[in-house]
Amino acid sequence: MGGDVIVKLCETLPKHQNYKVVADNLFTSIALAEKLLDDGILYVGTVRKNRPGGCPLDSDKDMEAKGHGSIDSKVETKSNVAIVKWYDNKAVTLLSTCAGIQPMDKCIRWDKRKKEKVEVDRPFIVKEYNNYLGGIDLIDACVSRYKYHMRSLRWYLYLFWQTVILAVVNSWMLYRRACESVGDKNIKSQRKFQAEIAASLILVNAVRRPGRTSLDSTVPAPKRVCVAPPTDVQKDQYGHWPVKCAKRGRCKLCSMNNTDTLCEKCDLRLCFTHDRNCFKRYHN
Ligand SMILES: [Zn+2]
Ligand SMILES: [Zn+2]
Repeated sequence: MGGDVIVKLCETLPKHQNYKVVADNLFTSIALAEKLLDDGILYVGTVRKNRPGGCPLDSDKDMEAKGHGSIDSKVETKSNVAIVKWYDNKAVTLLSTCAGIQPMDKCIRWDKRKKEKVEVDRPFIVKEYNNYLGGIDLIDACVSRYKYHMRSLRWYLYLFWQTVILAVVNSWMLYRRACESVGDKNIKSQRKFQAEIAASLILVNAVRRPGRTSLDSTVPAPKRVCVAPPTDVQKDQYGHWPVKCAKRGRCKLCSMNNTDTLCEKCDLRLCFTHDRNCFKRYHN
């Protein structure tokens, strides 16, 4: 069943383009790796002990005796599937149609017996696996970080929400990559980025509707993530009506003068006097 999931998910992947698929030991089998290879899709994954069939590999005990970094591997000559068993803190077996032992590199591990850090040989297949599996863990972590907990009896809505959250996380990662590529140090946090998307979707070309206020006045209003509206809201030229507010405060733009003129939509104080029109400048 695990293998079927991967085959189904790979249906839309362009064939014979050397795409690599990485999955953990719930999914991996030799049959799966061979099936994907037929479509020109490469595979790296950890594999459960009972899955590689009759492939004779060193036992865990033998490898433990040889110590950290001991390796055993076999290659299936017809389909070129490589199986590598590596002893780290415990034995792990991996299977691949595109990676094997070489080129090896070193990693640092704590040796319990010697009570010191030792350099351990690491096969290429392990490096490949760690490299890409980290991405899956990362997206899981990012998705769960600021999940909006909605409830529904219709199970398929959860799939829809997950898709939306994935899109938000992916766009934040693209945004970060873009900032890094131009050397922009001022990268927004995921929380801020997500809040700005929400503010933009709600406010661009729309008027701000009064929010629901809690009947219980002891409950403080939630802290706003976006202190200033996102730029696309600020400059959308829609519904930015000036209103007078009770308490004077610093102008958002010039930040030198006190004013009681407020933009209703941005919820910010901006000067509007004979000398200064910060209100107009801010919105253009
Ligand atoms: Zn001003
Ligand atoms: Zn405004």
